[in-house]
Amino acid sequence: MQELISKIINLPIYQELGIFINKKSIHKDYLDDFSAIFNMDKKVRTYCTKCKLTETFRPLKSEIKVEHSSKIFVTLRDSYELTRYSIHNKVYFEKVHNEINIVEYDNLKKSSVNFLVKYGCSMNLSHEIQIYFSMFIEDKFLVIRKIGQNISPYLINLPNSRIYDKELKKYKCKDDYFKYYLHTIHGDHIAALLYLRRVFEKFVNHHVDEESKGELFSKKILNLKSKNVLDPETEDLSGSVYGLLSKGIHQLSDRECSELNHALFIFIEDQLIYQESLRKMKKRKDEARKRIESSTNKHT
Ligand SMILES: [Zn+2]
Repeated sequence: MQELISKIINLPIYQELGIFINKKSIHKDYLDDFSAIFNMDKKVRTYCTKCKLTETFRPLKSEIKVEHSSKIFVTLRDSYELTRYSIHNKVYFEKVHNEINIVEYDNLKKSSVNFLVKYGCSMNLSHEIQIYFSMFIEDKFLVIRKIGQNISPYLINLPNSRIYDKELKKYKCKDDYFKYYLHTIHGDHIAALLYLRRVFEKFVNHHVDEESKGELFSKKILNLKSKNVLDPETEDLSGSVYGLLSKGIHQLSDRECSELNHALFIFIEDQLIYQESLRKMKKRKDEARKRIESSTNKHT
């Protein structure tokens, strides 16, 4: 359950979660998904942009009110707890035993309802993550659409990009990287790939020799192969990655680009992390060399 909430926090705006329904109840395989959003009793570990550390966030009072009422008797022998889930003081769901019934089924088919959930950082509850949702019924699904969040998933994920921030600056592609991220968050994957390609082009252009600058890009990538620029474990994919980035921008549908986006991003990110690790390793070795050489001179 915790996993789903952290996934939701990182979910781009306007993405939807579908909770399958059976008649007018939540399907039993989707009870955990339902609980992750509506029970709000689970903590989540995520990056706090104010503390600048990964912290535990706990649910704060939200627009969903959950009320457990005393036992109701279904038969003389069996009694069950009744849980009511209200939004803006209107009961939308009722849980009896293990069944969650959609009380507002007919209205949710006609129109949507918006609601807000909040999480507070355990170090300071005013460090809030607020997520806005819209909920409605379409076909056989209760659709939960994320329509807003006070802290962008980009900022929450920033600690990752901080690892190779110096690399982004070196290739002068920080803006492109940021725009890649913004377009991804907004589900605009063709544009996202366009900026990702720019990041890759700047990275490659930075490393090629002066005489190769005018060559075809695919040739430039080939020229890098003996220069320890690309991660040796993924280097063989570099031509395909560039081909897919270009194909995505010019020929593929947004849906096809969205399916490719993450894998292509991982490849590019891997190259940035690889370069960053080389830089760190070199610094370490240089420092040790300096110390050893100066000590050798001193002690001989
Ligand atoms: Zn905090």
